[in-house]
Amino acid sequence: MLSKRLSPHLETIIKTCPAVHREFVPSKKEGWDEKMTTADPLMEEEHTATRGLVHKYGNRALVLLTMNCAAYCRFCTRRRKVSDLKKGVITDKDLDNIVAYLKKHPEIKELIISGGDPLTVPILLKKALTRFSRLPQIKVLRVGTRLPVSDPRQADKKVLAALDAVKRQPLYLMVHFEHPAEINPATVRAIRRLQPHVTMILSQSVFLKGVNDNVKTLYDLFSGLIEIGIKPYYIFRCDYVSGAEHFIVDFKKETEIMTKLRSRLSGLACPLYVIDVPGGAGKVPAPLNFWKWDKRACLDFNGTRITLKKL
Ligand code: SF4
Repeated sequence: MLSKRLSPHLETIIKTCPAVHREFVPSKKEGWDEKMTTADPLMEEEHTATRGLVHKYGNRALVLLTMNCAAYCRFCTRRRKVSDLKKGVITDKDLDNIVAYLKKHPEIKELIISGGDPLTVPILLKKALTRFSRLPQIKVLRVGTRLPVSDPRQADKKVLAALDAVKRQPLYLMVHFEHPAEINPATVRAIRRLQPHVTMILSQSVFLKGVNDNVKTLYDLFSGLIEIGIKPYYIFRCDYVSGAEHFIVDFKKETEIMTKLRSRLSGLACPLYVIDVPGGAGKVPAPLNFWKWDKRACLDFNGTRITLKKL
């Protein structure tokens, strides 16, 4: 079960912003409706090749380096194991096994380092990035984080030194933002420190009921991000994860919001709206209301028809 943790930085923000409060402070609505949701909707456990490595898509793989985060988001897709530090720590032996698996699978060209938050364990991150970046087959590295939002002071010299371990490949930093109140002076300073150490910073967001499910909030968020040099990359439909049901937004409402945003934002500022389809088949782009289309179902990347659950 996901523990409760807040940083001093977030303690201050939640006093004046109910939306950010909702993101991080546990609510009585955190149920467990297994008819509707599952603990592992993206089927990562099933696709775990060796401890800490998920290999679902041919040319890329996901490394879950730690289950530690500076603060725990109540809507976390990996809430089944994030904050469980006993199970979550990747050891030297695990890294050896991951590297051995990668060598046996030269088709893997891109690694996504995630968790938990890899930037909260900079010594381990440096070790992992050093080993992965030395593999000739690895052409692209990505690191996912929420540290600039959840505890910007932790984005310190140790973190920068870890990112500097990548010399050869492009290194993309994917920062998770949900609400414009998360773009504040301390976070912007952290982003400025990080920017020279990576190829590019992109953002990822999730539609969350009561947090960002309206045009104005997302307009302000994506405009604010592009103004500080962050490219809004993806906005996801909230995964059907047990314990986070109360964050799921009506699908029709999401498509209406994204249609309006696509009309008002520049192409650079507007992220791609995708659904990580249940069953782990991939991130399928959701069409907007510029076209007539079937809102009840989509085809995944294998051509399988996925019927969307009705809320
Ligand atoms: S920072 Fe990411 S991994 Fe950590 S609790 Fe939030 S969503 Fe989950």
